[in-house]
Amino acid sequence: MFGTPPKFRAELLDAPIAELGMYWLGVRCTDRCNRTSYIPLKLMAARRGGRMRLRAVVKRLRCEHCKTPPASAWLTDYPVEGGGHGGQVATWRVELLPDAADGGD
Ligand SMILES: [Zn+2]
Repeated sequence: MFGTPPKFRAELLDAPIAELGMYWLGVRCTDRCNRTSYIPLKLMAARRGGRMRLRAVVKRLRCEHCKTPPASAWLTDYPVEGGGHGGQVATWRVELLPDAADGGD
């Protein structure tokens, strides 16, 4: 369904978000809230500074509605997945949370 991401997960996490401004952060909240939202990293860079690394952004993520840390988060190239509307859809997706791969920095 999805193609190949532009970089490995670890490289993406270490990248300053200014370099990832064309991508989107997908955030899914816990079952209780069950909301999914997409945040453009361009906006995140404008708000928090483009030198901030993706890893730090992910650590600070909170649901916009209930303010709890998200159940899952991912990076993608477009905030729409499949669905047959005939428009642009995401071509890749890199899972960032839950974070099983590394113990932080
Ligand atoms: Zn929530």
